[in-house]
Amino acid sequence: MSRWNEEWVSGAMPPVADLHLHTTASDGLLSPADLIVYVAGTGLLVAAVTDHDSTEGLDDAFAAAASFPDLTLIPGVELSTSVGDSEVHLIGLFIDNRDENLQERLEHYRSRRERSIRESVEKLNELGIGITYERVKELAGGTVGRPHIADALIEAGHVSDRDEAFEKYLGDDGPARTKKTRTTTAESIDLIHSVGGVAVIAHPRTVKRLEEVLPKMVEEGIDGIEVFAEKYGTEDRARYAGLAREHGLVPTGGSDYHAKGSEDEILPGEAGMCGPSMSAVEELRERAEAHRSRAST
Ligand code: AMP
Ligand code: FE
Ligand code: FE
Ligand code: ZN
Repeated sequence: MSRWNEEWVSGAMPPVADLHLHTTASDGLLSPADLIVYVAGTGLLVAAVTDHDSTEGLDDAFAAAASFPDLTLIPGVELSTSVGDSEVHLIGLFIDNRDENLQERLEHYRSRRERSIRESVEKLNELGIGITYERVKELAGGTVGRPHIADALIEAGHVSDRDEAFEKYLGDDGPARTKKTRTTTAESIDLIHSVGGVAVIAHPRTVKRLEEVLPKMVEEGIDGIEVFAEKYGTEDRARYAGLAREHGLVPTGGSDYHAKGSEDEILPGEAGMCGPSMSAVEELRERAEAHRSRAST
C-alpha cells in the first residue's frame, strides 16, 4: 500500500474521518443531532453513524449534518456476527438504509437481542439484583444492548459506571452473560453488499483467532478492517495495517464513541485516533459503488 498509509499508521497525521460512532438509536448517549453538532465542532471532515442493528438515527443525523457543509456524513450500521465460534462486529458503510429487506433483517436482529437481554436480567434477578427488563428497555429507547442493563444497574446503585457493570456482571465471563445467536459473517457481508454498502471488520483486537478466520472472511468479500480503533496504539495500527495490506483490505476505523463520559473514553477527532485517511474513505466509496452497481443488475 502507498506511503499515505504509513504516515497515518505512525500517527503523523491529524484525524480527518471517524467511521464508527454510536447514538441513542442504540447504546450511544448522545442523540443523533447532538452527536453531529459535536463531531462537526471537532473539525472532522467525514463521519459515519454506525448504530447496533439500527439505522433509526440516520434521518436526524443527516438533518443535523445539513447545517455543516464541511462535514460529509456516511450512513452506516454495526452488526454482531460470527464466523466459527469467533464473534465479529461488522460495520456496514454507504448502505441504502431505505431498503426494505435490510430493515426487516435489522428488526429480526433487534428482537433476537431482546430475548438475550431478558435472559440476562433474569440471571441478575436470580443473583438478588432487582432490576426489570421493562426499565432496561425504557433506558435503551432504541436497540437494546448490555450497556442498557449497565445503565439500569447504575440507576439502582449496584455499580457506578458501564465499565464496572461489564467487569462485575456483563462481560464475556460474567454471571449475567447470555449467548445470543448471531448471523454468519458470510450472510451479513452479503446483506451489506446487497444494499450497496462496504463491510468492514470492527475493532479486530476483539476477534478470536483473527489470523485464522480472516482468509475466510476475505473469500466472503470483506472490504476493510479497522486499523484505527478505540485505544489502538502504534503497534496495533501497524499489525492491522499489515493484515490489510496482506489481504487487500481498506485500512479504516473510528473511535466507536458512545459518549459514556468516562475519563479514558477516546473522543472523535482526538489526535490519538490518527485515521482513517481521506484516500481510504474514497477507496471505500469506490468499492461501495461497485457493490451497488452489481446489486442493481
Ligand atoms: P451487546 O450489544 O449487548 O452485545 O453489548 C455490546 C456493547 O457493549 C458494545 O458495543 C459496547 O458498546 C459495550 N461494551 C462492551 N464491553 C464493554 C465494557 N467492558 N465496558 C463498557 N461497555 C462495553
Ligand atoms: Fe456499543
Ligand atoms: Fe462493536
Ligand atoms: Zn461500535
